[in-house]
Amino acid sequence: MKRLDIKTSKREEMVDITKEVARIIADTEGEGLVHLFVQHTTCGLTVNENADPDVQSDFLGFLRRLIPGDDPHFRHFEHNSDAHIKSSIVGPGVIVPFSGGRLCLGRWQGIYLCEFDGPRERRILLTIVSSE
Ligand code: ZN
Repeated sequence: MKRLDIKTSKREEMVDITKEVARIIADTEGEGLVHLFVQHTTCGLTVNENADPDVQSDFLGFLRRLIPGDDPHFRHFEHNSDAHIKSSIVGPGVIVPFSGGRLCLGRWQGIYLCEFDGPRERRILLTIVSSE
């Protein structure tokens, strides 16, 4: 298992971690899958478009409108229930196939850490399963 530590810089942002993941699997021969799992409850992982940054701001903005942080019904003492809910909606992991040391992503796909309660240090575990 490999580890990837990412430092986020805003309360909410999408951090493109594609290059870091590509570097980690670059030496892996054969074909296989890399599973990424983030060990936190107020962020998530997803694959989405990496061409137009408006996609990322639209994504975060939509979730913010859907789950407002100041919802008077929230009881959680840390006052970050919105981030916990967004974390579960997006999910803690993604699986990406690779072949010959390269990620098999589509032309416009990138792997993103979705920060919902930053800035924080985030740890991602990578489990690589290869045919070789
Ligand atoms: Zn909390």
